[in-house]
Amino acid sequence: MNKLQTQQIEPSIAIVGSGPAGCYTAQMLCKRWPSAQIVVFERLPVPYGLLRYGVSPDHQGTKAIARQFDRLFADGRVRFLGNVEVGKHVSLEQLQEAFDVVVLAAGLGADRPLPGLAGDGVYGAGQVMRWFNSHPDEHSFAPRFGATTTIVGNGNVAVDVLRLLAKHPDSFVGSDLDPRLIESQPSRIHVVGRSPASAAKFDSVMIRELAEIDDAVFDLDAVDEFGHEDKRIQAKIDALLDLTAASAVSSAPRVHVSFHFGWAPESFESVGDGRTLRLVDTASRSAVKLIQTDSVVTAVGFDSGLRHEIDRASLESDVSDLECGLLNTGLYCTGWFRRGPTGGIPANRLDAKMVCTRIIEDVESGALTPAKSGLEALETHLHPDTVDFPGWRRIEAAEISRTAHGRCRTKVADVATMLDLARTCTQEHTTPMGVGNVTSDVVGN
Ligand SMILES: Cc1cc2nc3c(=O)[nH]c(=O)nc-3n(C[C@H](O)[C@H](O)[C@H](O)COP(=O)(O)OP(=O)(O)OC[C@H]3O[C@@H](n4cnc5c(N)ncnc54)[C@H](O)[C@@H]3O)c2cc1C
Repeated sequence: MNKLQTQQIEPSIAIVGSGPAGCYTAQMLCKRWPSAQIVVFERLPVPYGLLRYGVSPDHQGTKAIARQFDRLFADGRVRFLGNVEVGKHVSLEQLQEAFDVVVLAAGLGADRPLPGLAGDGVYGAGQVMRWFNSHPDEHSFAPRFGATTTIVGNGNVAVDVLRLLAKHPDSFVGSDLDPRLIESQPSRIHVVGRSPASAAKFDSVMIRELAEIDDAVFDLDAVDEFGHEDKRIQAKIDALLDLTAASAVSSAPRVHVSFHFGWAPESFESVGDGRTLRLVDTASRSAVKLIQTDSVVTAVGFDSGLRHEIDRASLESDVSDLECGLLNTGLYCTGWFRRGPTGGIPANRLDAKMVCTRIIEDVESGALTPAKSGLEALETHLHPDTVDFPGWRRIEAAEISRTAHGRCRTKVADVATMLDLARTCTQEHTTPMGVGNVTSDVVGN
C-alpha cells in the first residue's frame, strides 16, 4: 500500500476515559496509525482513572505505569482533553458525528453492597480507596473508623485497605498519601472472609507485604494448611502462617489484626454504646461470632454503578458483539466499561488489544470508511475550561513541588484548584480550544 492510500484510511478516533483501558487503546491504535488524530476525553481535569485513584498510594511502582502513558501524550501523538464529561459537556452523538471511531473506556464500578450491612459506620472499600487517593468526588467523604474496624472481604483491595489502616503513619515516605487521612488509625482490625484461607482471593505477595509492619501483631482463627498441590494456594497459606508466626513475638503492638476465615456477616447493629457485627459460619450456618466494632469496610467487589452519564446497555444494537468490544458501527467499548469491574491493569491491556484488532479490521476491510474531521468539527461544542496535557503537567508539577512529609507528591483534591493550576502561566497562549493547549509548554517529567 502506498503512502497516500495509508493516509486515506487513517480514521479520526475519540476515546472516552483516560484510565488504563483508554490509554492502552490509544497506544495501540497510534502504533497502527501513527498520523491518525486520536483524542482522549476525560471527565476529570487529570488523567489515568483508577491508576491514580484506585491503586494504593503506597504502591508507586504500579502507579509508575502512568509514565508510559505520559510519553504518548507528551510527544503529541495522542491528545488529552480533560474536564470534558461525555454525556454532560458534549454528547455522545456529537462525538460520533465528529469522529470516525469512538471507543468508550469510561470504567464503572461502585462498591457492591452487602445485605444487612448499611448505614452509619459502613463504608465501601472503593470509596475508601478513592478517598485515600484524594479523588475530587470524595472531597466531603469523612469516614470515622474508630478504635476498632472490620474489613469484610478477602481480595487485594481488602488487603490494601488493611495495610493503609495498619501501617505506621511514619512509613508512608515515598507514597502520595495525604498525611491528614491517617491522623486517626484504628488499633484493632478484624478481616472477615466467607471462604477458607485457601480460597481467599488475595495474592500471597500482598500478605508478605504486611509482614513489613513490624509493630503490628497478626493472628488468624483457622487455616486449611495441608495438602494443596496448587502452588499459588500453598504460597498464600504459607504467607499467612509466616505472618502470624513472625508477629507473635512482637511485644506491645501498636495495632492488632485478626483474620477470620469462613465467616459471613449477617448484621451490624448498635447495642448500647457500641456496635456489633454478627457473623455466621459459612460451613455449618449454625455457629455465630460477634465482633464489637466501630466501623465496617466492605471490600466484596464492585457492581455496575458509578457510571458517569453514559449507559452501555442503552447503546447496544443489532450489530453489537461485546466479545470483541463492538457496540454499533464505529462505536466500541473496552476495559471495565466493556467487561465489568474485574481484573487488574494487565487485563485492560489484553482487552484493548482485542478491541483494537476489531477496529483495525473494520477500517481496513472497508466496513468503516474514514471521512470525519475529528476535533475540528467538535470545537464549537467544547467549553473553554478543557484541560489539555500541558495543563495536566502544570497540575502535576504543582503536586510534585509540594512534597511535605517525604511524600512523592501532594495531590490536589479539588477540581477548582486543578483548573486554576492548569491555567497558570499560559493565559496569553489560551485558545478557545482550552486551557493552555500549547504543546511546547510541557513541564518536565
Ligand atoms: C480500589 C482499587 C484498587 C486497585 N488496585 C489495583 C492494583 O493495585 N493493581 C492492578 O493491576 N489493578 C488494580 N485495580 C484494578 C484497575 O484499577 C482496573 O483494572 C483499571 O483501572 C480499569 O481500567 P479502565 O480504564 O477500564 O477504568 P478506569 O480506570 O475506571 O478509567 C475510566 C476513566 O473514565 C473516566 N470517565 C468516566 N465517565 C466518563 C465520561 N462520561 N466522560 C469522560 N470520561 C469519563 C473516569 O474518570 C476514568 O478516568 C484496582 C481497582 C480498584 C477499584
